[in-house]
Amino acid sequence: MSASAQPDAALVHTAPASGRATCGVESCPPGLSGDRPAFRASAEKEDSQFEYYCHTGYALTECVAHHDRLRALLMKFNLRNLGQWRWVLVRSEDWGPILRRVGRDADSPAFTVLENRATFLEEALFVAVPGRDHTLLEKWRIPPSELLEYAVAHELGHAVCSERDERQASAYGRELIDSSAIQCR
Ligand SMILES: [Zn+2]
Repeated sequence: MSASAQPDAALVHTAPASGRATCGVESCPPGLSGDRPAFRASAEKEDSQFEYYCHTGYALTECVAHHDRLRALLMKFNLRNLGQWRWVLVRSEDWGPILRRVGRDADSPAFTVLENRATFLEEALFVAVPGRDHTLLEKWRIPPSELLEYAVAHELGHAVCSERDERQASAYGRELIDSSAIQCR
């Protein structure tokens, strides 16, 4: 239950006109994410080292609701060592084309660009997307209700330790879920 059914308009603002250039997900200038103009949500909250964005096409209410769930999840973890980080949500219909363009596995619902200090998360981690859920379950063998936490923890394994190895990032992710913190090795 939410105290307010309406999204707090003050917490969501569009990118400034000057920042409305396009950029690829691998090379976004600071303040912009996604390959088309994104809007930025709620950077003024207590976890101010994090910036939250939604890629173009994300409805405002969904953007706010999904960011709230992401923020609640992140607050379960000790992330003091992470510093500034950008979280970008992308609609599932845009996810595949974007990931194929940057040469990444489109069956993965999340990825991190260490150089940009940014993690991209697919909409399907937050809501059931017909067709997509089956693919993710087949590939990852993780119940849909647990996939968001698993994916975010895995990406934090990359992020917190600047880790590029997938197996090690998964190990860190498991450690984060089990103990709320990661000891980089
Ligand atoms: Zn990974």
